[in-house]
Amino acid sequence: MVLDPGHNGGNAADPGTINAPVPDGAGGTKPCNTTGTSTDAGYPEHAFTWDVANRVADLLHDQGVQVVFTRADDTGVGPCVDVRGELGARVGAAAFVGIHGDGAAPGGRGFHVITSSLDPGGAEVAAATQALAVDLRDSLTAVEPVSDYLGTDGLDSRGDLAGLNLNTVPAVYVECGNMRNAADAALMSSEAGRQALAQQLAAGVLAFLGR
Ligand SMILES: [Zn+2]
Repeated sequence: MVLDPGHNGGNAADPGTINAPVPDGAGGTKPCNTTGTSTDAGYPEHAFTWDVANRVADLLHDQGVQVVFTRADDTGVGPCVDVRGELGARVGAAAFVGIHGDGAAPGGRGFHVITSSLDPGGAEVAAATQALAVDLRDSLTAVEPVSDYLGTDGLDSRGDLAGLNLNTVPAVYVECGNMRNAADAALMSSEAGRQALAQQLAAGVLAFLGR
């Protein structure tokens, strides 16, 4: 499994690196990486994604699943989204899960799971990607409602995300909640909330892997 904790703690201090254009997997370019969002109280998305990814990895390790991260810590810069997106194929991963928190209008609540509309791995990988998205969606509903502002039944498909467009293994991004929404921010800012999200993410992955 590749786990991709979105963004990085050093990104804000190095705009030259993170704003450099990289291939977006759709014929164009986009910035290497971004700083991400935060809660209104200032809890940053990069810290949230790093914490949750480590919790998910611990739970998967307990079940004998090998996990590779796209970044080594929460104090570095990048890596760029194209490098992240290509890691799954490079290490021969069964699947790739990117972990994010959204920064939408405060009235919107809930999580959604994003897949690439470009089907970069072909039809078979696209079907597996859809199954991964559904497994994660079905699992996450135990702790968080599906998004009421984006997607359909907690699922969304986009063509603008390099980390998914360049991924030839089953790959999704999970927007675990809207960090600008008070109820979601409360869940995402608490250790118990992050553990609960991690448990459901790990359960969704295990369901996908058939374990
Ligand atoms: Zn993000």
